[in-house]
Amino acid sequence: MPETHHHNHPTADVETKVAWAVARCRENGLRRTKAMEELLRTLAVENRPMRLAELAESEALATQCDPATVYRLLLRLEAQGVIRRLGLHERSAFFIFLYPGEHHDFLICTDCGKIEEIGMACPVEALENEVGRKFGYQRIYHELEFFGLCPACVG
Ligand SMILES: [Zn+2]
Ligand SMILES: [Zn+2]
Repeated sequence: MPETHHHNHPTADVETKVAWAVARCRENGLRRTKAMEELLRTLAVENRPMRLAELAESEALATQCDPATVYRLLLRLEAQGVIRRLGLHERSAFFIFLYPGEHHDFLICTDCGKIEEIGMACPVEALENEVGRKFGYQRIYHELEFFGLCPACVG
């Protein structure tokens, strides 16, 4: 696996990630439910930004709950810091699993709302280490979102 892509590859297996997220939610008083676990598992397996509709229609969740419930669950998980919301507005919101030590950088079209992961070496990682050292921070992380017009929208 090329060194330049290391930050896009998962650092832990799916069940480790799900267990971490569930434990964190439970510490903060959230009840563990089958739907919560399935939602986390789907996001951990896919490891890419997913829309509410796609999540709600997934096989694991469609049989468990309706889209409104999935949405409320997403908001709760976001508040716990175990998933991240991306995108510009409600109708084109995406959600992605947020696991410590793993990060994704994105390119988002301000016109059509399309989102792409930037599969390039991330220059901010070196800066991140330096900032951590300088300010004495542990578990430091960053996330980048670039905005612009995608080729299709430029026409
Ligand atoms: Zn576009
Ligand atoms: Zn980055």
